Order: sequence, then structure tokens, then C-alpha cells
Amino acid sequence: EDRRLYSPKYVKEIINKYDFNFSKSLGQNFLIDGNIVRKIVNKANITRDDYVLEIGPGIGTLTEELSMNAKKVIAVELDKNLLPILDETLKSYDNIEIIHGDILKIDLEKLAEEKFEDKNIKVVANLPYYVTTPIVAKLLEKNLNLDSIIVMVQKEVAERMAATPGSKEYGSLSVFVNFYSNPKIILKAPKTVFMPQPKIDSSVIKLDIKKELPEVDREQFFKVVRASFSKRRKTIINSLSSYGFNLDKEAFKKALEEAEIPQDTRAENISVEDFIKLSKILPPLDI
Ligand code: SAM
Repeated sequence: EDRRLYSPKYVKEIINKYDFNFSKSLGQNFLIDGNIVRKIVNKANITRDDYVLEIGPGIGTLTEELSMNAKKVIAVELDKNLLPILDETLKSYDNIEIIHGDILKIDLEKLAEEKFEDKNIKVVANLPYYVTTPIVAKLLEKNLNLDSIIVMVQKEVAERMAATPGSKEYGSLSVFVNFYSNPKIILKAPKTVFMPQPKIDSSVIKLDIKKELPEVDREQFFKVVRASFSKRRKTIINSLSSYGFNLDKEAFKKALEEAEIPQDTRAENISVEDFIKLSKILPPLDI
């Protein structure tokens, strides 16, 4: 038990041995709580059939637990100073492969094909918080055959991702995430489960990827969503007509009417389905 990677004593030992310094700019807050590590893997429903992609293994704490439950784990780590550490901490597991690289730059489609033989993939990660949204966006937008994404993120971000229309957290991130997946917050974690301790609390969110996406021109859809949320307190008609599209206010009024969306409502009350309806009715928008 004491030799498991989540033991704070072991974390200290290993980082001292390798003279490792935590990088704040790489979002390095490592898990030091066995309960949380086990719960994440448990809630992610990882079984011996699963192919797992981990982002940012750190010293391998979550990787180890994943390896003990999954068929295969591929973990992408950006910090080269962690590579010799991972070599040591994970040496007794033969179903883990560490890839040195930036998850935002890696060709994920190629990786999925080469390493996962195009099997269904589960992503599990304690994400570096400075790039949470771009990472989740990339995972959702690419054609990756993902089953689910289970990630530890800062509490507020998890709440925004899982928010429903009418709540104050509901925004373009909620629409984006809900377009591609069914999100659910599955775990809360206090600052104390990390070393070093961050200033904020965290949550684990599970995104169950939709097998079939709504039929809509995605570019047009996200243009409409972005414009709609561009001015938080404005009505939908004002946000859309003042955004600078090649369309006058009358045309937006007509489209809203046809979509049965009241023009004085605000974006934070409009569902994903209604945004889809509206973007299909509108003619192609130029910016
Ligand atoms: N999984 C470990 C744990 O839970 O203890 C570490 C989590 S730590 C919050 C985030 C990890 O992501 C760090 O190891 C950091 O070096 C790595 N990282 C940061 N940016 C990255 C990127 N763009 N691509 C891949 N890994 C990254």
C-alpha cells in the first residue's frame, strides 16, 4: 500500500531523487489521495476490455490505477523531466505506453489508429487546468471513436460544462459540450488531494459521447452560438443583429420567429436543440 504512487511520502521521495521541480505553468498538481484515484477509475467504469488515453500522467499515479484495470493505457506527457520518473514508477506494468508530446499538437486521429487499432477509447485524465477547454474541445471535435471522457477539472469549469439552460453557468461552453456529449459531474475533490495544493477545488466530469451528432452545419451552428452569447445581458435579437453578420435585424427577427424563439429572450435560456433549429433556418453567415 505504502509503495503505491499516491502515497505523499513516495511522491516526495521520487521527486527528490530526480530533483524534480513542479511547474506551475504546466499545471502540475499531482494526486496524493488513493481514495480519489480509485474513485476516478471506478466511476469511469474501466474494465479489462478498455483502451484508455491519459493526458498528463505526471509521475504516473492515475496511470498505475488505470493500468491495473484496463487493457491498455497510452499516456501523453509534455514535460520531459517526468519521463525518467515514469520509467521508474511504471516499470512493472506492461500495458502502458508513455508518449512524449503536447496533446494539443499531436495528431490524435493518427494516434488512435496506430495505438488503439481504431477501438473505442476512454479518455481519463487529471487535466492541466491552463488548457482544459482547448483539450476538451480538441477531443470532442476530432473524429476519434471516443466512448467517454472522464476528466478532473476545476469545479467552476465542470459546472459550466454540465450547465442546463436557465442557470447562470449556462454559456457557449455548455452548448458546445452538450452538442457532442451528455455531461455529468461524478465526483468532487477538495484542494487537499493534490501536491502542491491548488487554490481552487476540483470536480470530475464524465462526458458520454453521443454516437450520433445532430445533423447541422457545425460551423454555422457555432457561429450562431458564439454570437448569441457575445453580449451576456442582451436579448438574442440584439446580440445576433449587432455581431456584424451579413444579415439585417429584420432577417434575424424572421428566423427567430420561424424557430419559435422569442426575440427578447436571452442566450442563456436557449437550448441546444433551439440553437440547432435557428442555425438551420438562417442563411449561411459570413463571419
Ligand atoms: N495525472 C497526474 C496526477 O493526477 O497526479 C498529473 C496531473 S497534472 C494536473 C497535469 C499533467 O499534465 C502534468 O504532468 C503536466 O506536465 C501535463 N501536461 C501539461 N500540459 C500538457 C500538454 N499540453 N500535453 C500533455 N501533457 C501536459
